[in-house]
Amino acid sequence: MTIVKPYRVLLYYMYVPIENPEEFAKQHLKFCQQLGLKGRILVAAEGINGTVSGTVEQTDQYMKVMKEDPRFAEMVFKVDEAEGHAFKKMHVRPRKEVVTLQLEEDINPREMTGNYLSPKEFFEAMQEEDTVIIDARNDYEYDLGHFRGAVRPDIEAFRELPDWIREHKEELEGKKILTYCTGGIRCEKFSGWLKKEGFEDVNQLHGGIVTYGKDPEVQGRLWDGQCYVFDDRIGVPINRVEHVVVGRDYFTDEPCERYVNCANPECDKRIFCSEENEHKYLRGCTHECRIHPDNLYVKEHGLTEEDVKNRLKQINEEL
Ligand SMILES: [Zn+2]
Repeated sequence: MTIVKPYRVLLYYMYVPIENPEEFAKQHLKFCQQLGLKGRILVAAEGINGTVSGTVEQTDQYMKVMKEDPRFAEMVFKVDEAEGHAFKKMHVRPRKEVVTLQLEEDINPREMTGNYLSPKEFFEAMQEEDTVIIDARNDYEYDLGHFRGAVRPDIEAFRELPDWIREHKEELEGKKILTYCTGGIRCEKFSGWLKKEGFEDVNQLHGGIVTYGKDPEVQGRLWDGQCYVFDDRIGVPINRVEHVVVGRDYFTDEPCERYVNCANPECDKRIFCSEENEHKYLRGCTHECRIHPDNLYVKEHGLTEEDVKNRLKQINEEL
């Protein structure tokens, strides 16, 4: 007997015209709050992109009501079981785009997008020759986990991806291109954009990494690490057959999947770091961050100047 966890996390999107996104967002926030959901939903004239957490009953009710709206009747909800809420608040925000790609000429995925590959088709295509797998996410997402052999575009934000592609055009030409992202929404536009740029064999993982991990046949194979998610869980498992840690501790280069933010609020850099090293280095990514007057680690632990001095001494640094 499988024990069903009391909560769920839903991940979903749909490119569909929404009139007056501001008004829709207001109403939708009320609706979500009445249900008791928490999470983050973006609404734009081009569609909706959301992730929310709630009890089994709350999320059931949400999906039911959404599907009664003809605009969202075909919505695919990816459902994860959870022990509790994955968010602290409920936000519904009107935006210009449901994902920020900021293309000079916008792409309508309902008119142009790459071929959809099922998890099994994607799994097989990854192993073919002359295939390039492009991760359509941010660098810190890639660093926690990615498909084996996938290219890590050296970019800090998704909107920089088009420039990166143009700079690497020669390496990509004539290849079978596979793109993937968390839930599939970023690839809808990105793969359409690739086609518009002249690439012919463009394919996207339908339903994204999250769906790939749930597929009973592929069982997440060829995925290494965890999948970064934008909620309190940070990472979720994908590969059900083997778990290879790809993250590396910022200080020691040991395998590590624990993300923390640098304690200097002005830096806030995301680094992999063991609990031990967090204490050792005062959660600071550089000496400057460790001795920064607003270091959050020092405040949280109520360290005196003497304490800080002693910690620094252990790593051969001085205040
Ligand atoms: Zn720092």
